Amino acid sequence: MDRTAIVSVLEEFNKPLQIREMKIPELKPGQILVKITAAGVCGSDVHMYEGRDPRLALPMCLGHEGVGQIVEMSGEKQTPLGEKINEGDMVIWNRGVLCGDCYYCTISRQPSLCVNRWAYGIHRSVKIPPHLNGCYADHLILHEKTDIFLLDDRDSAVYVPASCSGATAAHAFEYARPKLKTGDTVLIQGPGSLGIFLVAYAKASGAGRIIVTGGTQSRLDMCLEFGATDIINRHNHTPEETKEIVLSITHGFGVDVALEASGSLGAVTDGMPLVRTGGAYITAGFGEPAGSVEFPWFENIVRKNVNLQGVWVSDTRHVLEAVRTVQMNYENFAKIITHRFSLEESTEALESVASREAVKAVLIPPNKKFMSVKALTLPV
Ligand SMILES: [Zn+2]
Ligand SMILES: [Zn+2]
Repeated sequence: MDRTAIVSVLEEFNKPLQIREMKIPELKPGQILVKITAAGVCGSDVHMYEGRDPRLALPMCLGHEGVGQIVEMSGEKQTPLGEKINEGDMVIWNRGVLCGDCYYCTISRQPSLCVNRWAYGIHRSVKIPPHLNGCYADHLILHEKTDIFLLDDRDSAVYVPASCSGATAAHAFEYARPKLKTGDTVLIQGPGSLGIFLVAYAKASGAGRIIVTGGTQSRLDMCLEFGATDIINRHNHTPEETKEIVLSITHGFGVDVALEASGSLGAVTDGMPLVRTGGAYITAGFGEPAGSVEFPWFENIVRKNVNLQGVWVSDTRHVLEAVRTVQMNYENFAKIITHRFSLEESTEALESVASREAVKAVLIPPNKKFMSVKALTLPV
C-alpha cells in the first residue's frame, strides 16, 4: 500500500495554507525519511507567506526548522561527530544543504555562503522531487548531503529554534567573541528567538553587561532569564534616552559589541551610535531585502574604527553550538516555546508570529493520519 504524508501547503500568498495528502516516494540512495515531531514557525515564514521573499516558488510546504524521528534510511549515515545514525533516532539537521564543490565550500571555507545552498521549506516547491521538502508536514525527506545531529529524548519542540535562529545567532556571535573580554558590554537589539540565543551566547562568553532593546515587554522579560542585565523597551524610551542609558552603563564609551537581531532598519540607525570607538556592529536579523538605510559613514564607522559585519544564515557547526546551548539551558529554552499548533492551524500559527504574540510557535504534526484531506495532484 502507498504511504502518504500530510502536508500543509502554501498555494497562494496571503491565503490560508491547505492541508494536502501526498504520496511518500521510494527513497533514493542516501535519502532519509523523517517523521516530523515539531516544526518551527519562523518570522521569515511570515514574510514568505506574504510573498515578500524572492526565493519562494509556489506551491510550497514552508518550514525550514524541524526536528523529527528517523523512519527509514536508504544507506548508512553518520553525524559529523562520527555517531552512527539509526532508524528510530531523534534528529535535528542543518536546514541548509551545501554542494561541497563551489568556491565557498572548498577554497574560502565559508560553507554558509555556498552558491548552491538551498534550504528545506524555502527553495524547493512541493513540485520538485522528492516533494516532501518542508517541515510543515508530518514527513520530510532529507537529502543525502544534509548534516544531521542526534538529540536526546527530551521534548523535541524545545530544540526546534536551534536549527534556525539558534544557528544564525551562533554564526553572528562568532564575530563578536574575538572582540570581547570578560566583563565587557554587549547590546542586543531585538528580543525574539534570535536575540534570546544571542543573550545566551553573550552570557556564556563572560559578558558583564548584556543590554537588550526591543518593543515587546514579555520577550524582554524572558531575556532576563537568559542572563540579560538590562532591558530597554523602545515604547518607553526615545532613541536619545536609550543612548543616555547605554552611555551611563558604559562609562560614556558605548558598548563593546552591538548585535542587531530585529530585522529593522531603524535598529541599525539607532544602534550604531551606541557602539564604542573600536567596537563592532554585527547585523544578523535580516532575512530578505529591506530597503536602504542612511547614516553618517564617517562619524559612525570610519572615525570610530568600528567593525561592521553582516551575517547571512549559518553552517553545520552553528547548529551544533545551538543544540548544545539548548541542552545546557533546557529549562529556559522550554519557556520560549509559547505556542503549539496543529498542522491544520498553520495559518493561525503564522499569525501568532506576525503579531509577535508568540516568542516561538511550533507546529506539532498529528501522530494519526486524519482522513478528510484533498489529494494534491503532482506532476509525474
Ligand atoms: Zn527560521
Ligand atoms: Zn558550495
